Amino acid sequence: MSTVTSTAGQGGPSLPQERRLVTEIPGPRSRELFARKQAAVPPGIGTTLPVFVTHAGGGVVVDADGNSLIDFGSGIAVTGVGNAAPRVVERVRRQVADFTHTCFMVTPYESYVRVAEELNRITPGDHEKRTFLLNSGAEAVENAVKVARHATGRQAVVVFEHGYHGRTLLTMTLTAKNMPYKHGFGPFAPEVYRVPLAYPFRWPTGPENCAEEAAAQAIDTITKEIGAGNVAAVVIEPIAGEGGFIEPARGFLPAILEFCRRNGIVFIADEVQTGFSRTGDLFACEHEGIVPDIIVTAKGIAGGLPLAAVTGRAEILDRVHVGGLGGTYGGNPLACEAALGVLETIEAEDLTGRARRIGETMLPRLRALAERNPVIGDVRGRGAMIAIELVVPGTTEPHPTAAAEIAARCHAEGLLVLTAGTYGNVLRFLPPLVVPDHLLEEGLAILEKAVNET
Ligand SMILES: *Cc1c(COP(=O)(O)O)cnc(C)c1O
Repeated sequence: MSTVTSTAGQGGPSLPQERRLVTEIPGPRSRELFARKQAAVPPGIGTTLPVFVTHAGGGVVVDADGNSLIDFGSGIAVTGVGNAAPRVVERVRRQVADFTHTCFMVTPYESYVRVAEELNRITPGDHEKRTFLLNSGAEAVENAVKVARHATGRQAVVVFEHGYHGRTLLTMTLTAKNMPYKHGFGPFAPEVYRVPLAYPFRWPTGPENCAEEAAAQAIDTITKEIGAGNVAAVVIEPIAGEGGFIEPARGFLPAILEFCRRNGIVFIADEVQTGFSRTGDLFACEHEGIVPDIIVTAKGIAGGLPLAAVTGRAEILDRVHVGGLGGTYGGNPLACEAALGVLETIEAEDLTGRARRIGETMLPRLRALAERNPVIGDVRGRGAMIAIELVVPGTTEPHPTAAAEIAARCHAEGLLVLTAGTYGNVLRFLPPLVVPDHLLEEGLAILEKAVNET
């Protein structure tokens, strides 16, 4: 307790931007806290790295033992603007002293409307849009499906292999991977259908044919087994996040979109992980010029405060009756102020350009590393959303233990990295977009050493 209060308010970018290890990882204080966690919190709530955080900002996370770790995780793509980003802190600080909650559905306030206006303006497409706000990515995906079903009068929802959309009943049903997200949690929601994703590294006939063949298979399944006229919505991540940072082969997304347009199917882009400059575009859909009917955002939207949004065509969102959408906390005033601070920061610090430069630094280094280490089967991603896929050398057989071992070596050296992938064999890198160059370089050097030693 005392360490927390004595240094309270000293997080954010002014935190010393250095890797500093003063104990083993995790240190004694974190171990103590972890023992308490294990006694008080069910094990279903997992832990990537059991260091307990006291401060964070810029490119570092500081723990209860005084270790300063390089952050290549951003709290799972949330703190793109950095932890305790000044514009976020200042707005939230003012708001928390003015009022903390009224419920937007009871007595509204301006910041919610401003967030909606901003999202309507900056998301892909210049058609008339509406936005409503929720608390989490899952809640927003679920609401997007509700809206699409209401607008179309249809029930079926099509999702893709390797997709991840959340942990509620509907969104875990939309999610592909059984363990850990679905196992034992059934029965699942009805009218959810899964079709192939254009996964270039694992496409049986090779990456060149991937987009065309995968789109043909997906469309064939929809047409023959579901019936296009029964489909309310297609829900897809423009880059599959938890599935392993899979960029669908170029041409796949436009082909699916075109099919949706021809058949009156609502195309929902789940940009919960990819949004807000992460991929080197403000939204990942921009990369291939995709204009979704509905775009779902969360994670990077509010610098860590819980907020999510559904933004879509006015003629679709306006169909729902008065009172049909909402929730007690959705668009909480603190979270809305934080989101406005995030948007100001992205613009003022050109974080979209910054994300591109992070990719330009990381990708060549990782490709060179892959040449020397055949355990790396694929290097991929865009901007500050980069991954390596680990395989048994000389094959495409997934190698999850190599991923786990490399991650453990990085953690021991004070570099926070995350794993991902349907096969658990992907290391993903999501540095804050504000990470200083010297920490990015140092993190890459630690990673290179960890791969070389594995
Ligand atoms: C994290 C994530 C979600 C779920 O968001 P929560 O805020 O955890 O509910 C949905 N879709 C994608 C693509 C995600 O990465």
